[in-house]
Amino acid sequence: MSLDLIRNGVAAAARKAGRDPAGITLIAVSKMQPEARVLPVLQAGQRVFGENRVQEAQSRWGALAPRFDGVRIHVIGPLQTNKARAAMEIAHAIHSLDRPKLAETLARLAQERGACPELFVQVNTGRESQKAGVLPDEADGFVARCRELDLPVAGLMCIPPAGEDPAPHFDMLREMAARNGLAGLSMGMSGDYETAIAHGATHVRVGSAIFGARD
Ligand SMILES: *Cc1c(COP(=O)(O)O)cnc(C)c1O
Repeated sequence: MSLDLIRNGVAAAARKAGRDPAGITLIAVSKMQPEARVLPVLQAGQRVFGENRVQEAQSRWGALAPRFDGVRIHVIGPLQTNKARAAMEIAHAIHSLDRPKLAETLARLAQERGACPELFVQVNTGRESQKAGVLPDEADGFVARCRELDLPVAGLMCIPPAGEDPAPHFDMLREMAARNGLAGLSMGMSGDYETAIAHGATHVRVGSAIFGARD
């Protein structure tokens, strides 16, 4: 378990960038990790966890979260509309808002529930056909649409193309967020969270570097 290492890495990257480490939320991505690896991280005080799939989030955290104070689950993977209700029930934040149909469903559920998780709009900065996210050209319009729906958009999220320098993608996301008046930037994973922090990340999503490689 390398939680301390990554916490120190986050703090060091923040200081190097002249930023307050408290302005960066470390999301420990526990997807597909056995409970035996997750428990020590909880016991070490980590409270914010990321899950890709709603079903896995429910089956793991439904039982585990009540055993610890203040656990917060961030859903970071693609979200099907028919899972939106379950996602809202378990998640404190959703990082994969990426299409009008999902925005409309979340808005309807938010009205019904009188509450909504923090939302991040996922942007497909590399314009990859297999990847989720709104295209860069569509991001401003989509954010505006989400605001019309009264959705609490906290920021933007991206996953840069594998094998490319992520820095230009992080910069693109930061510029997009700035011109839309959004403070949140969910970017950076195990391999590039320090770069992401240097480029303005407010939320880093780190899995394998904390828990070890997934099966
Ligand atoms: C799995 C995943 C992560 C964490 O990836 P690591 O490389 O294990 O840190 C971050 N973000 C998303 C969207 C993921 O699916």
